[in-house]
Amino acid sequence: MTSTTRVRFAPSPTGALHIGGAHTALFNWLWARRNGGSFVLRIEDTDLVRSTAEFERTILQGLRWLGLDWDEGPDVGGDHGPYRQSERRDIYLEHAMKLVSSGQAYREGEAVIFSVPQGKMVAFDDVVYGRIEMASDTLKDIVLIKSDGFPTYNYAVVVDDHTMEISHVVRGEDHISNTPKQILLYEALGWEVPTFAHLPMILGKDKKKLSKRHGATSVYEYRDMGYHPDALFNYFALLGWNPGDEREIFTREEAVEMFDLARVTRKAAVFDIDKLNFVNQAHIARMSPLERARQTVPFWKEVGLDPDSRTEEWLAEVLNLLEGRGQTFRELAEYTDYFLSFEPVKKRYSADDIDEEHRKTLKSFFSTMLSLSSWEPEELEVMAKGWCDEKGIRLKDVAMPLRWALTGRKVSPGIFHVAVFLGRDEVRSRLSHYGLV
Ligand code: GLU
Repeated sequence: MTSTTRVRFAPSPTGALHIGGAHTALFNWLWARRNGGSFVLRIEDTDLVRSTAEFERTILQGLRWLGLDWDEGPDVGGDHGPYRQSERRDIYLEHAMKLVSSGQAYREGEAVIFSVPQGKMVAFDDVVYGRIEMASDTLKDIVLIKSDGFPTYNYAVVVDDHTMEISHVVRGEDHISNTPKQILLYEALGWEVPTFAHLPMILGKDKKKLSKRHGATSVYEYRDMGYHPDALFNYFALLGWNPGDEREIFTREEAVEMFDLARVTRKAAVFDIDKLNFVNQAHIARMSPLERARQTVPFWKEVGLDPDSRTEEWLAEVLNLLEGRGQTFRELAEYTDYFLSFEPVKKRYSADDIDEEHRKTLKSFFSTMLSLSSWEPEELEVMAKGWCDEKGIRLKDVAMPLRWALTGRKVSPGIFHVAVFLGRDEVRSRLSHYGLV
């Protein structure tokens, strides 16, 4: 085994970057960073029918968003692009012809086919799954190059992993059955076999293969739903691995420090959105108020608000009022929409539920409230309690109508805090819209 750690993520560009792929990429990246090694990105685009440049682009974007930077690849204007199998056809053909020359492979028209040696026991020690053995007699001959001149997966992956000097092949458990075929090819080519570490499957809560039925499957959808990449990173790291203690919330740097392939579990991991929400909420809570506000800006815009007309400090203050409520940036934006505009409140609430008697009481209360000399949450609360005691009514009989008129919601931060933050004039104007002053 080579002493430097070199790992790779080898997606086929036949779909977006899905949870399973991102998980595999993440574990490779962690292992490379843990060991000060290299993380190689290789696009396996030999399936001409299903591969598209657009899928490749979204996979790269998804990796960048998750912060899974790769270390090398052909120069593309100062940056390095990924390796692409479609650009390496000469290399595959060259090695296939060597196998033909040595009598280990044969041609059928344009195709090149490997003769599987009989009577051999192929074995390897998987870092995660332990010793795995397979009798070569159970295998059919392996197509190396198809008649269209393109290599097959099992062959190209061997040539690439060898020529790219990959030390550890870390990939999904669904590839365990391919590994003996690949080992036979390494042996036939006289190449050293890398270390294999297969990762457990990720299933939905119903223990079925993860699919659209379980919710968003592409990592980019999670960005659009208001998740922070550090939270997704943290959550993916917990699928099939844990730091060995109670820790569940950690930064990238902490994950790099703690990660060990030897601690990966065999048991299928369950993708649990509630857990992801919990992790996301914890990351939002750890972030600085200004950063939290910046991340929420696109979501305020999405619900039709104009956060750009406010200062970042003001937006950060608004979010501070939530005191940790809200599990995604989208929720933060929704839960605070009424601070940025009265429009959503009007859409949600009409005040039709208030009868004349109650309205009279409320008018009297609100006019007293609006004429208070000081406009501070404590003053408002003391005044409200005193006023209610005197009239023999419950505080909530005035606080709830106030909450509805200011926020259009049943639940909000302390309503006197909301009133003070909105300012006396805005409160008066909202109450007057509902005929409550
Ligand atoms: N292109 C293969 C896949 O997406 C790569 C498998 C491997 O890592 O060897 O499943």
